[in-house]
Amino acid sequence: MTNSNNTIPPVQTALSRQIQQDFSRQKVKRLIQLLRITQIALLLVSIITIGTERYGDAITMLATGIFLFSVDWAIYKKHPVVAATIFLVSLTLMLSYLIWVGSGIRDSALLGYCSVLVFAAMLGNKRLLVVLLALMILVLGASAYVNEYGIYFNIIEPINLATGAIAIVILIVIGSAVWMLAHDYRSTLDELARENERVKTAKTHIEHMAMHDPLTGLPNRIMAQRNFDEIYQDVRAHKQLLGIIFIDLDNLKPINDSLGHQAGDQILKEVALRLLSYTKQVDRVCRYGGDEFIVFLPHIQSAEEVSQASLEILQLVSENYLYRNIEIFCTCSIGIALAPQDGDDLDTLIKKADIAMYHSKDSGRNSFRFFNPAISRNMLDHISLISGMRKALIDNQFSLHYQPKIDLQTNDICGFEALLRWHHPEQGFISPATFIPLAESSGLIIQLGEWVICEACKHAKAWYDTGLLEFAIAVNISSIQFKRGNIDTIVLGALSASGLPPQHLELELTESLLIEDSDRLVTTLSNLRAEGVHLSIDDFGTGYSNLGYLKKFEVEALKIDQSFVRKMDDQTGDAAIVRAIIQMSASLGLKTIAEGVEDASTAALLRSLGCNQAQGYYWARPMPADEVAGFIDFWRKDQG
Ligand code: C2E
Ligand code: CA
Ligand code: CA
Repeated sequence: MTNSNNTIPPVQTALSRQIQQDFSRQKVKRLIQLLRITQIALLLVSIITIGTERYGDAITMLATGIFLFSVDWAIYKKHPVVAATIFLVSLTLMLSYLIWVGSGIRDSALLGYCSVLVFAAMLGNKRLLVVLLALMILVLGASAYVNEYGIYFNIIEPINLATGAIAIVILIVIGSAVWMLAHDYRSTLDELARENERVKTAKTHIEHMAMHDPLTGLPNRIMAQRNFDEIYQDVRAHKQLLGIIFIDLDNLKPINDSLGHQAGDQILKEVALRLLSYTKQVDRVCRYGGDEFIVFLPHIQSAEEVSQASLEILQLVSENYLYRNIEIFCTCSIGIALAPQDGDDLDTLIKKADIAMYHSKDSGRNSFRFFNPAISRNMLDHISLISGMRKALIDNQFSLHYQPKIDLQTNDICGFEALLRWHHPEQGFISPATFIPLAESSGLIIQLGEWVICEACKHAKAWYDTGLLEFAIAVNISSIQFKRGNIDTIVLGALSASGLPPQHLELELTESLLIEDSDRLVTTLSNLRAEGVHLSIDDFGTGYSNLGYLKKFEVEALKIDQSFVRKMDDQTGDAAIVRAIIQMSASLGLKTIAEGVEDASTAALLRSLGCNQAQGYYWARPMPADEVAGFIDFWRKDQG
């Protein structure tokens, strides 16, 4: 885990720095303790020595004891190394002197050397220890040498109670120093063990964070992979099936948008709890992404069991949520893949469960679907087209083409309809009939539609400025743009940004939109009408064809769907329908526009029926924006 590796070293350095600080504080404490013990020992030994009438030795020891107060001064000045050096060097020099003038290498001061070495080890000054040891060896060697060669003779003191007492005092000093040394060693080891434990806990915590989702506490993708490996190994060993249940919440976005992200977070946490209460085991659930969860269903014998589980999960998730006393309703769509039949690595299985999930979203949400290879190709194409569209918006692969509308009485151009074109870098031109429904189902139509409105307004303004625009440019608006977007703000924004007068813009709406008849829709449309924007109904005749609501929405024109227009000269009765539509709209004061006119006879028939305008390949196919001005010029000259 790179994450934990990156994080643990700083923790360790901080800890070891702490240990080091504690350690040197402990050393200073020990130095002071040893100093006092030594001063007391020196006082005791000098008193005993006075008893044996060796006044010179006694004075040396007392003087050293007093001099050792300079160690306190060095400690006070915060020079612990200087303090330890003064302490050890003065002791060694004193002992060397006593040995030299006393009984040589038989002198009980030799024991003192041992205590100095133990002190040096405790105070942790390696270089000093070596120097002192060398000095001691030198003194002892020299003492032996001068005695051997008769240069100087040490007189061995007789053994008596005083020498015994001195040896006992020195041994006590050594004993206490060794005890302290062992104690320090043990407590350092204990402290290290404790630190080790702390580092381990920190590491586990960090690992947990890297493997779990912070909001819900559920395993994340990385952990899900580990859990899958373990579970699937076991499932395979028992020759059973593993169900991968991919859960995607249906309406988290509107909840976030309307109630805020806290509400969304609350729902996610609650969903996590409900899923946990279902699986009972935390390693069987995972938060896979924003509003996506995965449940592993191990040890199953048939797909039937996964269906049952999915139904229960749908039920669990769709129970009401309570946020600040507001009841929130949230459903989910489920896609299922089965291992081993759909694959045996998690990536493949999730991809397939995801495709199945899209399928279940497509078929009305709040449902589950199994992965089915037959639908997958289609679905994959859809998914790749949707992501292609997102890229296309950024990369400017979209453009608008314009198709003229002709006034059937005067034969003048009376408008243009803007039609979206997508030039895909690999697949060439893709029909809007293919990509518009996908843009609608993915919500991308909001952005795409906004781009269309702005682009059409820009083009129209350019034609307006050159005096060509004596009519309105029609833009197709999807009902999703009304439901999910603030279409009036967008349209009015595009108008003011481009400077196009509103009466040169027309919106083509679908019948199904008006059926909804919500207050918001009425307000939105009357706002637009009040500004002067024109409204017409597209594909009329394919929907509910209820003319009653048209007046209320201040619609001015109906576009008769091409399916009727194209079959007008058959004997199917479509001409009668077209005639009825034209008559009804005339009585309501609405204009009629016929779409998809491909020949002169249809045009003539429509004219005779009283249809106002028409549009179709008979006059012109949709053309790129830069051909529009030339077309208008040509048309007017032709007419004139
Ligand atoms: P629609 O709004 O009914 O547009 C008319 C469609 O009929 C256009 O197809 C046009 O090229 C085609 N057409 C025009 N005259 C004839 C003709 O004489 N014969 C035949 N066979 N077809 C003719 P297109 O451009 O492929 O657009 C298809 C649909 O895509 C449109 O149907 C509209 O529903 C949608 N669409 C296109 N652009 C946009 C847009 O910017 N926004 C939205 N929301 N939908 C759009
Ligand atoms: Ca249209
Ligand atoms: Ca149409």
